[in-house]
Amino acid sequence: MSHVTVIGAGIVGINCAVSLCKAGHQVTVIDRVPPGDGCSFGNAGILAPSASEPLAGPDTLLKVPGWLINPDSPLFIQWRHLPRLTPWLLKYAWAGMFGDLKAAGAAINPIMAPCIELYTQLAAEAGAPELISHTGGLYVYESEKKFKAARASFLRRRDYGYDFTTLDFNQIQEREPTLSKIYKWGYWVDDYGHVTNPKRLVDTLADYARSLGATIELAEVLDIQTGPDGPTALVTDQGTRPLDKLVIAAGAFSHQLSAKLGDKVPLETERGYHVMIKNPGAVPSIPVMDSDIKAWITPMEEGLRCAGTVELASLDAPENHHRAEVLLRLAKRMVPTLNADDYSVWMGRRPTLPDSIPVIGPATKVANVFYAFGHQHVGLMGAPATANLISELVSGRNPNRDISAYRADRF
Ligand SMILES: Cc1cc2nc3c(=O)[nH]c(=O)nc-3n(C[C@H](O)[C@H](O)[C@H](O)COP(=O)(O)OP(=O)(O)OC[C@H]3O[C@@H](n4cnc5c(N)ncnc54)[C@H](O)[C@@H]3O)c2cc1C
Repeated sequence: MSHVTVIGAGIVGINCAVSLCKAGHQVTVIDRVPPGDGCSFGNAGILAPSASEPLAGPDTLLKVPGWLINPDSPLFIQWRHLPRLTPWLLKYAWAGMFGDLKAAGAAINPIMAPCIELYTQLAAEAGAPELISHTGGLYVYESEKKFKAARASFLRRRDYGYDFTTLDFNQIQEREPTLSKIYKWGYWVDDYGHVTNPKRLVDTLADYARSLGATIELAEVLDIQTGPDGPTALVTDQGTRPLDKLVIAAGAFSHQLSAKLGDKVPLETERGYHVMIKNPGAVPSIPVMDSDIKAWITPMEEGLRCAGTVELASLDAPENHHRAEVLLRLAKRMVPTLNADDYSVWMGRRPTLPDSIPVIGPATKVANVFYAFGHQHVGLMGAPATANLISELVSGRNPNRDISAYRADRF
């Protein structure tokens, strides 16, 4: 077995560390911040095994012009970044209009489908089963037109074996009496779960990885040195360290590292926000999505989290608090009795590729380097299955299924 260095202590890198340790490898994880302090800190916590649709389909793309002129909509672009963003946006639109969305769904599905099962097992092994809640999920609508338009997307989930139920006003109120009476229609999906504290999940799995022998170190990776047989050393702000095998799970920054190895990958960041409302009073007991703003309210250990929206800017653009205000207003609208006196605001960088399919697998130009990044809106869900696949590849085992859709050189 080999020594494997994982760059990135987000949910993907930490899951990789657990899987690799279980396969008998010696593992070192390197991150410039503590585990789970990147994008994995503040997500909505949703585990949706049926979430296999690529982000950009014709339905979504047709809504974009309307969203762009409304600063409170699910999508916002900081216009001064448009020239840099344009090539990526064109690839994204092309994938949505002309790409094979069914094939993309078939590639995404095996990574998402086992998420509840895998996390239930992992959290139990790590001694914190309470972190995973299998409660179902609710999508609510004010407008009948939008409710009807969304039906096609729920019907497509049946292709993967997931069913849904439609709810009317009374059924929504019966199920969740604290929800606003503005919601007249809904879809209920039984097979949904949620993580009750995404940051504590990463911390718990990081401790579990340590108990299996991994070490986790704070350092910023500046460069990767390679020789004819693959990577030889990592140059970090804490010095240079020798490398045997390398996994790059650096979230929205992964393309900066893959480019050093000759793989130019069109990774962009879709920034998202949350407001975490402490002591919220009576709130829904399950995750609920407002289908206009496309944000979730999720009951968590520390209160009620309202998370979502997409902001296209750049990795280092300052936070835009208007996006968080939209979420705070939404949470109050969804739960009229909400006590929102005490809340915090957060921004995270989702790593997104134009076709919504993550890059998972070997680097194309150097041996002994593996990629695990680009999980866009569903990286929490996709992390454990990604990690198992990475562990098989690093161990030289054949995954026994076609993984060419995840290639780094497909663009
Ligand atoms: C508002 C919001 C809501 C979301 N809701 C959900 C949800 O409900 N369900 C779901 O499945 N997903 C959700 N997501 C998406 C999910 O959070 C991400 O896909 C996931 O966290 C990505 O994990 P990661 O490990 O790839 O990246 P990260 O968590 O960002 O980890 C990458 C790590 O790499 C480190 N790194 C990068 N470059 C270097 C370097 N050069 N040197 C050292 N370290 C480096 C970073 O410091 C970081 O810690 C949501 C995201 C947002 C923003």
